[in-house]
Amino acid sequence: MSLTEVKHWVFDMDGTLTVAVHDFAAIRVALEIPPEDDILTHLAALPKEVAAAKHAWLLEHERELALESVAAEGAVELVRELAGRGYRLGILTRNARELAHITLDAIGLADCFAMEDVLGRDDAQPKPDPDGLLKLAAAWDVSPSEMVMVGDYRFDLDCGRAAGTRTVLVNLPENPWPELADWHAEDCAALRQMLQPRQ
Ligand SMILES: [Mg+2]
Repeated sequence: MSLTEVKHWVFDMDGTLTVAVHDFAAIRVALEIPPEDDILTHLAALPKEVAAAKHAWLLEHERELALESVAAEGAVELVRELAGRGYRLGILTRNARELAHITLDAIGLADCFAMEDVLGRDDAQPKPDPDGLLKLAAAWDVSPSEMVMVGDYRFDLDCGRAAGTRTVLVNLPENPWPELADWHAEDCAALRQMLQPRQ
């Protein structure tokens, strides 16, 4: 299947559709998480009350970032074009679903995604687990092989590989993970170019 034939698209949100603003090192310091640990995995292993307090802090911190979200280069045009073609579009983010809606609203793309196709960290096992992509495949009644996962980090690509979708890496000038990405585009504007009919 070529990229132009794919009609089921799932996007990572932060750093893919938006300009990346999360300072994960600062978040780890604030939450006393060792630098080498994955934030969500670390929180999941803590006693319930401690985890709840830290999740609450994280949600507040991320809410402020969400309200100030800025669209990534070409992201709005790309998503609008795909929506205009009538394709199914979803979001799979390690952010909270509520904040995903705030973010999509802030960058002017909220109307391009059905509410139930925006999956946050409370809706599915966090990436790189394939759970979220498999849930969207089931909801859309398509094989994962007919879907593409678009992201800016290796978790997005790992998640796609594990679910059996195609994968696109965006927003990195070079591709550090050629074995994980079926396609690479410097940004969403370049990705949109790849979808235009050849002259
Ligand atoms: Mg990202």
